Amino acid sequence: VAKQGGKNRYHQFDLEQDNAINSYNKSIDNVRVALDRKEFVLHYQPKVNMRSGEVIGVEALLRWEHPESGLIPPLEFLPVIEGHGISLKVGEWVIDAALTQISHWQRRGISLPVSVNISAHQLQQDNFTSRLQTLLAAHPDVDPGYLELEILETSALQDTFQVSSTMNACHDLGVSFALDDFGTGYSSLTYLKRLPAYLIKIDQSFVRDMLDDTDDLAIVEGVVGLAKAFKREVIAEGVESVEHGVALIHLGCVLAQGYGIAKPMPANQVSQWLTTWKANESWLALSGNREP
Ligand code: C2E
Ligand code: MG
Ligand code: MG
Ligand code: MG
Repeated sequence: VAKQGGKNRYHQFDLEQDNAINSYNKSIDNVRVALDRKEFVLHYQPKVNMRSGEVIGVEALLRWEHPESGLIPPLEFLPVIEGHGISLKVGEWVIDAALTQISHWQRRGISLPVSVNISAHQLQQDNFTSRLQTLLAAHPDVDPGYLELEILETSALQDTFQVSSTMNACHDLGVSFALDDFGTGYSSLTYLKRLPAYLIKIDQSFVRDMLDDTDDLAIVEGVVGLAKAFKREVIAEGVESVEHGVALIHLGCVLAQGYGIAKPMPANQVSQWLTTWKANESWLALSGNREP
């Protein structure tokens, strides 16, 4: 019994220590240190045209390569720093790293547009456009047309007039915009109407269940119709299977991203992936109801 109790106590201690380490790791101060120590890294997930097989770009997704905990996903530390000054620094690091990567790929003959996620807070900084301009100027060999910004948490956008003028100014620099996780924010339609984003990303929660849930299917169909009516491009996130792709093509959505195509991967695996990628035969054979 004593031995048993001791073991449990040890176990208990272990768990507490684990929790302490975890919350310590993700504090604002430690994110700051991680940035200094260059522990952040971008992984890249391909976006494709299912009908033509063309790779249209990649999305940059942030990870923290922690020396002890390993790869930490963004939703474990970004919410902790959101709204604090450090989140703007991390945001700039992400754009800078993506531009460095575009230039690196370009020198190796790979022309790949990269999209970067930006928070509403980041976009609503007074000097967002000039900071973006500075970052672009630091990479004079990169065509800004290869950078796309995905706007997150659109429900946190306060002043659509200000935001749309910022977006237009960035657009003048050559950068384009997408509305991420479309359909989950509570004023999605207002944002669609007011914000100059050329691309709508259908949130993966709708795509995931569209094969079994007629409500989700209706939402996906509705968003595709909206995109068409507003003359925007539309891409489905969370395409996990061939069947998802088939259903989406039938609805007129030919652009896709998801584990069924490729998982996010380190930059050095992308060129290899590009040489082996082939669109599914049944996708290529479908005509769809809208031209890509
Ligand atoms: P997001 O921008 O909507 O990115 C898509 C997320 O879904 C990624 O998770 C990706 O790995 C995951 N995903 C892609 N395909 C599939 C699929 O078929 N099935 C499932 N279940 N998941 C899939 P990740 O990398 O963990 O990122 C989560 C979120 O964190 C992103 O969602 C984005 O909101 C945020 N995020 C990521 N990187 C950054 C960044 O650099 N800055 C900011 N502000 N936010 C970021
Ligand atoms: Mg995104
Ligand atoms: Mg998304
Ligand atoms: Mg998301």
